[in-house]
Amino acid sequence: MARIQTPHRVRGTQDIFGEDQRRHAQVLSTFERVRALYCFQRVDIPMFEATEVFARSIGETTDVVSKEMYTFPDRGGDSLTLRPEFTAGIARAYLTEGWQQFAPLKLATSGPVFRYERPQKGRYRQFHQIDAEILGAAEPAADVELLVMADQLIAELGIKGVTLQLNTLGDAETRDVWRAALVAHFETHRDALSEDSLVRLEKNPMRILDSKDPRDRPIADAAPDIDAFLTDEARAFFEAVTGGLDAAGVRWTRNPRLVRGLDYYRHTAFEFVTDRLGAQGTVLAGGRYDGLIESLGGPPTPGVGWAAGVERLAMLVAEPAAAGVDAVIVPMGAAAEARATGLLAELRRAGLAIDMAFKGNMKRRLARADALGARHALILGDDELAAGVVQVKTLADGAQRQVPMAQAAEALR
Ligand code: ATP
Ligand code: MG
Repeated sequence: MARIQTPHRVRGTQDIFGEDQRRHAQVLSTFERVRALYCFQRVDIPMFEATEVFARSIGETTDVVSKEMYTFPDRGGDSLTLRPEFTAGIARAYLTEGWQQFAPLKLATSGPVFRYERPQKGRYRQFHQIDAEILGAAEPAADVELLVMADQLIAELGIKGVTLQLNTLGDAETRDVWRAALVAHFETHRDALSEDSLVRLEKNPMRILDSKDPRDRPIADAAPDIDAFLTDEARAFFEAVTGGLDAAGVRWTRNPRLVRGLDYYRHTAFEFVTDRLGAQGTVLAGGRYDGLIESLGGPPTPGVGWAAGVERLAMLVAEPAAAGVDAVIVPMGAAAEARATGLLAELRRAGLAIDMAFKGNMKRRLARADALGARHALILGDDELAAGVVQVKTLADGAQRQVPMAQAAEALR
C-alpha cells in the first residue's frame, strides 16, 4: 500500500509551541493587564468581514487591499475577506451595533490577522496583532493616552531600544496644500523616480516619502516638510500631543517622513521602531483616522488607534519562565497508583498545579519532575498508603519530610 503523504503547513503560517508560545502569551497577558490599567474595554470581532469593509475603509490603493488580502466567495456567493487588520472591523461594528451611544469608546482587542505577503523573519501570512482604538474623541488627549499606553506596554514587556517616531499629517486643509506642494516637487523629478513611485505619484503621492527604493530616497528627502503648511489649528493639535507626551515622560522623536497613505488620516501618525529586527523593525504603528467611519457610510466620527505585531514584540521580550508546577506525584506500585489518581484530583481542585506521568518507574518519574521544573515530588508507596501519609521531597535541595495525606495541599503551599 502506498504511504500516505503528510500534508504540509501552509506557507507563512506558524505552529506556536514551547518557548515561542511562552513569549507570545507573555505579550498577550501584559497587553491584557495594561489595557485594563488604561480602562480600555476588551472587544472581540469576527475574523472575516464582507470584503467592502476593508476595501472601503483601508482604501483600494493601499498594498494591503490591492495585493495582500485573502478574499474568497463563500458558498452563498458573497465576497468575504479574512481580516488583514482590526480597525476596519471595529469601525464596522461601531456602526452596525449602535456603539455610538457609548462614545467616546476605548476598545482593545487581539488575535490572528491575515495578509498575503512574502514570508520572512517577522513577516507571516497569518500573524497576530494587539490593537487599541478610541472612537468618538477628537481631542489630542486621546492620541496622548494611546501613545502613553503603548510606551508603558513596551516598558512592561522589558523591551529596550525602541524609539517612538512621531509626525503630524495636519488637518484636511493642511493636507491639501502640502499634497499639492509634494506633487509639484515630485513632478520636477519624474525622470529619476522608481516605477513604483510613478504609480504612487498618480494615486498616493505621500507614500513616496517613505519609499525604501534608493532611487527615490534623495528626492523624498528633499521634498518639502509639512511644517510650512500647517494651519494654526493643526499646529496647536500637534503641540498638544507633544506637550502631553512630555508631561507623561514619554520620549519621542520627530520623523517628518513618516506618513500614512490614506486620505482620511489626520494629525498624529506614529511608529515605535527598533533596530533589532532588521527590515521588520516597526513593532507598533498607528495614528488618527478621522474620516474612516464616514468611508463606511457613518456620520463624521473621530478615531485614533494603533496595532502591534505580537510576533515582533515576542522576539524582543526576555525569555519568560516556564509555568510553575507545584508538584509531581510519584506512585510506586498498583495500589499507590490507584490512590494517587484521587490525590491528583484533590490537589488540582485545591488549586495546585500537579502532574503525574501515565506510567514509568520511580527514576523516570523523578527525572520527569525535574524536566518540568516541579518544586516538589510527592512519593507514595505501600508503606505510605498503610500509614495514610505521603513523602514530600523538595527537588531543589532533596530535603524530604512525611506529611499526612490530608495535609498534602497545605504542605505544598
Ligand atoms: P510593514 O511595513 O512591516 O509591512 P505595516 O505598515 O504593513 O508594516 P501595519 O499595517 O501598521 O503594518 O500593522 C501593525 C503592525 O503589525 C506592524 O507594525 C507589525 O509589527 C505587524 N505586522 C504587519 N505585517 C506583518 C506580517 N506580515 N507579519 C507579522 N507582523 C506584521
Ligand atoms: Mg505591510
